[in-house]
Amino acid sequence: MKVITIVGARPQFIKSASVSKALQLNGYQEYVIHTGQHYDPSMSTVFFEEMGLPKPYAILNCGNLKRDEMLSRMKDELKPIFDAIQPDIALVYGDTNSTLAGARMAQECKVPLVHIEAGLRSYNDEMPEEHNRVESDHIAKWLFTPTQQATENLKREGFKGRIIEQVGDVMLDALQMFQSSAVHTEKMGPISFFQKPFALATMHRFENISRPERLAFLVDQLNTFNDTVMPVWMPLHPATAVRLKEFGLNLSVHIAPPVGYLEMLWALKQTSLVLTDSGGLQKEAYYSDKPSVTLRGETEWVELIEMGASILFDPSKKELLAPKARNILSAFKPGTKAPYGDGKASQKIINSLG
Ligand code: UDP
Repeated sequence: MKVITIVGARPQFIKSASVSKALQLNGYQEYVIHTGQHYDPSMSTVFFEEMGLPKPYAILNCGNLKRDEMLSRMKDELKPIFDAIQPDIALVYGDTNSTLAGARMAQECKVPLVHIEAGLRSYNDEMPEEHNRVESDHIAKWLFTPTQQATENLKREGFKGRIIEQVGDVMLDALQMFQSSAVHTEKMGPISFFQKPFALATMHRFENISRPERLAFLVDQLNTFNDTVMPVWMPLHPATAVRLKEFGLNLSVHIAPPVGYLEMLWALKQTSLVLTDSGGLQKEAYYSDKPSVTLRGETEWVELIEMGASILFDPSKKELLAPKARNILSAFKPGTKAPYGDGKASQKIINSLG
């Protein structure tokens, strides 16, 4: 059975690690197509190397473009590859432009689509991710959901005749696979920094970084938190670095370049608190028994808020970050619930594909 997997952004490389391994162990022939959406080695190559991902069959040149241009370039470049491989199944993850381009090509080539991390909704139409995930869901034959909420979202929207299966979060599979390999490296900064309380921060969402006023407010809140609560360590996303420069903003926290997954897992073990607009990192904080502040007005991972594992910080309401963070630091108790499955999502997906 030939599977064509379309990935292109950092979280997809991480999500694919356990699924690719399970595909291989179960005799599937996987052709990984990397769209080049994230092309910087620190956002791409590092994950293929440290997580032992299959070498891509093709690496496309679709990075650094506006959404519509990116989708159109991906379409042009994916078509001959689909034609050459003639896959039995196409597989996409999450909600990026690469997800949607892969889904659309599967539809055009009449290849049944598997969508992993289906059913998530923010109900925020301003997010390109929301459009990407909804359309991909509508194309998919197999919809593998990570949570009860995601399953209910799909059922409410009426996906008749599709296979909807709640398998849990493939990112939990990855974390369990790689946790014992977590490592500190020089690139992260001196180890002494991590031996005192600190907060781990990441920020890259379009809604947070694309408007000067909103980004300036977030920078100010992070700087104040860093000066008054505890130092902040922040591996900076390249897109955020570009915007900070463009808008002339000075983020005075402890900045590192984007790091690999094993370095992130190490930082997660050491940190007292996570500040992030990343969906993946919000959950990883929870898996690591650490509280988090979600730097958004809503999240797709609503269970984290319901369980008190994370708290929303809505920049559009001009709330103050430091008191919010203090609240969750004092109220947080590591959870005993398991809303994201048991770390065996990948095997459940393979079993369902049959
Ligand atoms: N991550 C990483 N290095 C970094 C920042 C994040 O390996 O410098 C990992 C993080 O641990 C998580 C994933 O990247 O597994 C999240 O990806 P991202 O924040 O780009 O996307 P999102 O979760 O928002 O979809």
